Amino acid sequence: MDKTDRSYLRYARYAVQWGIFLFLVYAGYRFFFFVEHFLAHGAALQGTEEAILRNRFPSIEGFLPIGALMALKLWITEGVFDSIHPAALVIFSSALVLALVLKKSFCGWICPVGAISESVGKLGRRVFGRNFLVPRYADYGLRSVKYVLMAFFIYVVVLKMPAAAIFRFIEGDYYKIADVKMLYFFTEMTATTTVSLSLLFVLSLFYKNVWCRYLCPYGALLGLVSFFSPMKINRNDQACIHCGKCTKNCPSLLPVERLNSVRSPECTGCLTCVSHCPAKGALDVSLMKRRTVNPALFACLIIAVLFGSIGIAQLAGKWHSAVTYEEYQRIVPQTSRLDHP
Ligand code: SF4
Ligand code: SF4
Repeated sequence: MDKTDRSYLRYARYAVQWGIFLFLVYAGYRFFFFVEHFLAHGAALQGTEEAILRNRFPSIEGFLPIGALMALKLWITEGVFDSIHPAALVIFSSALVLALVLKKSFCGWICPVGAISESVGKLGRRVFGRNFLVPRYADYGLRSVKYVLMAFFIYVVVLKMPAAAIFRFIEGDYYKIADVKMLYFFTEMTATTTVSLSLLFVLSLFYKNVWCRYLCPYGALLGLVSFFSPMKINRNDQACIHCGKCTKNCPSLLPVERLNSVRSPECTGCLTCVSHCPAKGALDVSLMKRRTVNPALFACLIIAVLFGSIGIAQLAGKWHSAVTYEEYQRIVPQTSRLDHP
């Protein structure tokens, strides 16, 4: 194999992203029947209570980042680890650790929304022959929207909400079935949700990563944390042949060819630029700007941090929810009537 050919990095990333996406679709499918079981008084699934509970994969809690933010505050301030949706806290914490060490790689390698968003942009490029660029003045303004949303959640959850109130919320019925509410978000879409998602889809056909670039508060937080990451994409001007492939292929629209070091909070550590660079030694991942890090090792570390955290949580008994079969039996039928306390 040509030593400058690092296209395997792209394929590895697609494999990880879509592997996780497919797993979550399967987890959602099983969760649907889990919920139906409690709505149909036991008809949807057969087996012991323990076997029924196994149809609820804890990974679905990755879709509860606001609950995870509350749980993180409770954990840090009171030392209490959320037992209702512990997997949400584990996934959220590992995303923060990833950002701190390995750039915003949760967005670039793990998040299924990122994978879909990127693919819709590629589909748009196929259909229309190109993606369009938002004018620079509008781009700056729009990019601030996700930081405003992030600041709002941090203000409400981290600054305003006392730990005691978080504890009461987490122990309440509403939070116990927050995952069921999230399922309904997808299976029983309101007209507003359908219109919003359709609009997002259409916009993403024309403009790259609309959700991630302009709206996602989760990505905004990870981007800010990633400022402190010792890992950066570094360009060596001496070896660079100025082909522009890095800039052209960067999903985050970063002008890599003009930078010596990519510091932007938009960089997801996706390694697409590195994988496209044809000049040996021109573009690499570096640690503290001093040591070059093998990009394959960088990719392996992302997987190791995520799955290592999940493994540790499982061993420590902090992965599966403590909500019991009887509680699901009592609360799930009330889901649509339960409002935010
Ligand atoms: S600079 Fe490179 S690693 Fe960062 S987002 Fe762009 S392509 Fe991905
Ligand atoms: S892809 Fe590599 S050689 Fe081409 S401009 Fe970027 S850093 Fe330079």
